[in-house]
Amino acid sequence: MTTNPVEEAVQASQALAAAGLNDLVWGHAAIREPDGRGGVWMKAAGWGFEEIDADRVLLVSPDGEVLSGAGKRHIEYPIHTEIMRRRPDVSCSVHTHAPALSAFACLDTPLLPISHDGVLFCDPPIPRFTQTGALIATAELGAALAETLGDARACLMPNHGAVTVGPDATTAVMYAVLLERACRTQLMALAAGGPKIWSDPAEAALKREQIWNPGGLQAGWRYLLRPAERALR
Ligand SMILES: [Zn+2]
Repeated sequence: MTTNPVEEAVQASQALAAAGLNDLVWGHAAIREPDGRGGVWMKAAGWGFEEIDADRVLLVSPDGEVLSGAGKRHIEYPIHTEIMRRRPDVSCSVHTHAPALSAFACLDTPLLPISHDGVLFCDPPIPRFTQTGALIATAELGAALAETLGDARACLMPNHGAVTVGPDATTAVMYAVLLERACRTQLMALAAGGPKIWSDPAEAALKREQIWNPGGLQAGWRYLLRPAERALR
């Protein structure tokens, strides 16, 4: 496991690309700068996840100044700086416009534990940020999103996408991947007239422990990184 924030930002982008969470050049992962000043390392604007290397990662301050690296910052950087301001336990946040979670976000329906993936987002129910479907372009909107996220692993953003968080890139990226899959599975079940059966709270809690323990998350993350590692050989 890496502790270098630039390398972690590159790996987060590569893993999100491998999982198919691209939206052309939009969406981003951010890694907390460990110096305590509230900045984040994140990909430069204008590039897709699979195009990111260490030269395309920027350090962005909480007021949007690019402190290190070359390139333009993403407009929606306040998503990350404001979540990290409110959540000292978070060292990585991921913002994605992936298709299934974007479609599911606009439903007024709880995400149910009908798959292994869904058990992460049902208890408490994943929140939805309904203040705006437009870009999170100001600190005020970022703070409002962070408030809606609360202590949760993820927040759906109707008419926009979602955000996921974790203590490291492994966790936040895997939550984004698993949220997209959980939403896709439930959309399929809804289209077929269901769902009718899902895990009760005790089974969902057991599965969170049994399946999505740190070892399980790490195994998924390593799998997602292998295509990029093979390409370097
Ligand atoms: Zn966005």
